[in-house]
Amino acid sequence: MDVKSNRLDRLFFRYQREFEQKALDVLRSGWYIMGPELAAFEREFASFIGVPHCVGVASGLDSLWMAFRLLGIGEGDEVIVQGNTFIAGVMGVTKSGAVPVLAEPDDRFMLTAREIERRITPKTKAVLVTHLYGMMTPMDEIVSLCQKYGLRLVEDCAQAHGAAFRGQKAGSFGDVGCFSFYPTKNMGAFGDGGAVVMKDAALAEAFRVYRNYGCTDKYHNSVVGTNSRLDELQAGFLRVRLRHIEEMGREKNETAAFYASHISNPFVTLPQAAPQTYNVWHQYVVQSPRRDALQAHLKQNGVETIIHYPVPPHLSEAYAGLGYQKGSLPQTEKLTDAVLSLPSYFGITQEEKQAVTDAVNTFTG
Ligand SMILES: *Cc1c(COP(=O)(O)O)cnc(C)c1O
Repeated sequence: MDVKSNRLDRLFFRYQREFEQKALDVLRSGWYIMGPELAAFEREFASFIGVPHCVGVASGLDSLWMAFRLLGIGEGDEVIVQGNTFIAGVMGVTKSGAVPVLAEPDDRFMLTAREIERRITPKTKAVLVTHLYGMMTPMDEIVSLCQKYGLRLVEDCAQAHGAAFRGQKAGSFGDVGCFSFYPTKNMGAFGDGGAVVMKDAALAEAFRVYRNYGCTDKYHNSVVGTNSRLDELQAGFLRVRLRHIEEMGREKNETAAFYASHISNPFVTLPQAAPQTYNVWHQYVVQSPRRDALQAHLKQNGVETIIHYPVPPHLSEAYAGLGYQKGSLPQTEKLTDAVLSLPSYFGITQEEKQAVTDAVNTFTG
């Protein structure tokens, strides 16, 4: 049996009627940007996260750089970011003009208060926490630390729609929670999309103005903004996705639990969730000291896997200018060389999970 690394068609066909109906409704409405679907989505998503405000934007990257920009962070400021994040997190910082200071994750792929504190300098203005792979970072000590040092806290929740710590959802702990709705995310659109969530009403208003050319009243512009809007079709599709987000989380947890109880191989380490967290398992990421051989073995057995991510931001050509080298972040680099994402897409069948498990268990190192 062949198992692909992802199957977005499974999700589409499960809710086909709802998506098609929504597309027809929006197309027939004659209103395609900044209309009723966006307004409804923003209300519903804010309520789902448990904060008063949500503003739709065009992508996850936009949500990140706009967050720093509107929090007043830019040139001359430092933002502490974990080294093992997706490169968009680092770009969000550099696009705002600030300097990313890369920190090491722990064995659960997560940033910790202790590691953040080590990297604080007089220039530090903010911390960006990424709930990588949909695994929730414990937030209590990080929130206290940011309060103690007067730092802004931004959460990159692009992989963590609905994840929670002690019942409180990702995105609601800091000043701004940033989301991507890229199609492969746990809550994905059929194109690009993103959103920010927050408690502060004035900040939400600033995002609304900024995403639309700095426009306060039609054709009256108060600041030089940008064009970063979530269109009506995508907002409508996301409202459909939001209706089923709990089911998505349940299935992802079933898959993670199946792998946790059936995979058994001395050369493979399973991911460990932190205590008191609800995780949405955007990716199910195992580690192996013989990762490349494991990936080749799985491929031979018909199982396609992906490495998230093969090059950490500090070693990418794009960020050569930051001045890091191989060896600068040993823990990040160790994880980079060991991680492998097993198929765990929405709609994966029992037979497919079993095929993945059998292939992993027959790896002999
Ligand atoms: C996908 C992703 C982003 C970027 O989102 P886009 O919508 O592709 O711009 C940022 N951070 C993380 C952790 C992501 O997974």
